[in-house]
Formats: sequence, structure tokens, C-alpha cells
Amino acid sequence: MIERILIDYVTAHHDFCAILLRYFNPIGAHESGLLGDDPNGIPNNLMPYICRVAAGQLEKLTIFGGDYPTPDGTCQRDYLHVVDLAVGHLKALEYAENHNGVEAINLGTGNGISVLELVTAFERANNIKLPYVIGPRRDGDLPAFWADAQKAESILGWIATRTVEDMCRSSWEFARKSAEQ
Ligand code: UDP
Repeated sequence: MIERILIDYVTAHHDFCAILLRYFNPIGAHESGLLGDDPNGIPNNLMPYICRVAAGQLEKLTIFGGDYPTPDGTCQRDYLHVVDLAVGHLKALEYAENHNGVEAINLGTGNGISVLELVTAFERANNIKLPYVIGPRRDGDLPAFWADAQKAESILGWIATRTVEDMCRSSWEFARKSAEQ
């Protein structure tokens, strides 16, 4: 709805610029370990849930579905580092200062990785064994999707540079510090 309002506004005001950023799956935390995602209650999203399991606050991760039509049967998503996402916003602001009109732009890495691949990457990056079980599918989950990240590169000059290991390490660093408090 907000995108519709922005598009209408730009149509009526030709000297205005709006960038509609489409986030894929941001995870990770600031390298200081002080800024990150710490949801209230039991997390719904994968990485905060993984961190609670790693901290011993939840017993095990339930992977929602192991029979999807993907290479290992678990869903694939485009996880990107939240600091890359923040840099994408700065690039969008720079672009908006010098252009008019409206652009919808994906912010993602362009690569899909599976839930199991993320679990394995987390274990490797942090040297932690993560207990998990494969459970039933979650209603509404699509099997696989990732960004077409070409427009972000050609228009904003932005690409995600941080690795899945960076995402896993920084997520855990932040969660570990939060759990100590
Ligand atoms: N997921 C999972 N167990 C959880 C939370 C999430 O297996 O406890 C899976 C979920 O089915 C999806 C992926 O992890 O395939 C990412 O889910 P999330 O909710 O983080 O993001 P979404 O892509 O759904 O917005």
C-alpha cells in the first residue's frame, strides 16, 4: 500500500524520486556485536531461532519440511547480511539525490541456500553442534526463491559482498552477547 502511495506521489510530482527496496532474507548483525535481531518471545524466523538453540535457550530447531523439490528437500531462500542491506539503503539514497521517478529494486545476493545448508554453515562458522529435527511443512512457505540482483548492481552499483559465514558468525556474536546480559 505504501508503495502504491509512493508511485502515485511520484506520478504527480515529477521532480521526486522513490526507490522501492525489496528485501530478501536479511540475517547477521553489526560487527560490533551490539546491533542485531533479538525478537521477543519464541522467534518465528530461522536465524533468531537457530541462535536461541545455540545459546541453549531452546532445545532444538525444527526444520519446516524435508520433502520440498529442492536438492536436499529443505526450502531455499536468499539470505543476505544486514550490513549489506544497510549499504544498499545508502546507495539508494545517493541515487535518489540525482534522479527522478520510481524504481523497484531487489536487495539480495542472487543465490538461494537451503535451511540445512544454513544450519551447516552456522555449525562450521561457530564450531557449535546444532540439534535439529525435520518437522512438517509450515503453511504458506514457498519451496525456493531468491533475488534477481542485477538491477541493484546496474542502477545502484550495489552487490552483497558478505558471505554466509560472515552472517552466521555475526548473528551468533550478537546473540551470545545478548544472552549474557
Ligand atoms: N524455518 C524453519 N524453522 C524455523 C523457522 C524457519 O525451518 O523454526 C524455515 C522456513 O520454513 C523457511 C526458512 O526457514 O523455509 C526461512 O524462514 P523465515 O521465517 O526466516 O523467513 P521467510 O522466508 O519465511 O520470510
